[in-house]
Amino acid sequence: MTTTLAPAGALQGVTRRFGHTTVLNGLDLEVPRGDIVALLGRSGSGKSTALRILAGLDRDHDGTVHIDGAPSVVFQDSRLLPWRTVAANVRHGLNRVGVDRAEKSERVSEILAEVGLGGREGAYPGELSGGQAQRTSLARALVAEPALLLLDEPFGALDALTRRTMHKLLLRLWDRHGFGVLLVTHDVDEAVALADRVHVLDDGVVAHTEKIDRPRDGGATTDHRRSLLDALGVDHTTEDYSI
Ligand code: ADP
Ligand code: MG
Repeated sequence: MTTTLAPAGALQGVTRRFGHTTVLNGLDLEVPRGDIVALLGRSGSGKSTALRILAGLDRDHDGTVHIDGAPSVVFQDSRLLPWRTVAANVRHGLNRVGVDRAEKSERVSEILAEVGLGGREGAYPGELSGGQAQRTSLARALVAEPALLLLDEPFGALDALTRRTMHKLLLRLWDRHGFGVLLVTHDVDEAVALADRVHVLDDGVVAHTEKIDRPRDGGATTDHRRSLLDALGVDHTTEDYSI
């Protein structure tokens, strides 16, 4: 039975091995309802593996997965069907939802307007910029109103300015809809800018957690960034905070 206190998603004691390599080693991870949780770690630390397990895309593991409903996933590449229009791609997000055609069309139009793509319904993915493609991908993920949104480096391929715009868009959508988010990223600044809680994944477990209050406070933000860089073993006297 689900209670109001149940998390949007959680992993308990999850272990995943590939051959003789243990990538996740009894990982505990929770995304409370309506919270943004960032999973930060070096390349190859197992972030995507953890996200795929939460998404139900990898069942070859030990331990337990708790999920409220069907989560939606956005990856770094938008994974749109190039021969389908923007509207048709977004409508795919409603494939498993039992609503009639008219309501589907209405929900697709609404979410496209929310992500700033009203009027681009008939465009094809090849005609979109990288940012517009990710907006479409976000719309497809959100149209079914999931309780949990799983984001695997969704802004990693975008230029810095577009990335900032997408951060604001994500926060606006989150504020309005209240879904929980697991944001997988290797970008410390992105994690600190967006998340309520940042977990550092190392050696297959959460090695460090940073809780970040809203609204953001400049001084506290600097401290959080330093602690996270320390946890990652990165020299924070350098300018580049991505790892
Ligand atoms: P991250 O997303 O943090 O960069 P991944 O979760 O993609 O890391 O990968 C963690 C480790 O697991 C890496 O060493 C990777 O090579 C390995 N790995 C991931 N998927 C597979 C797979 N399907 N087969 C074998 N090894 C894999
Ligand atoms: Mg990855």
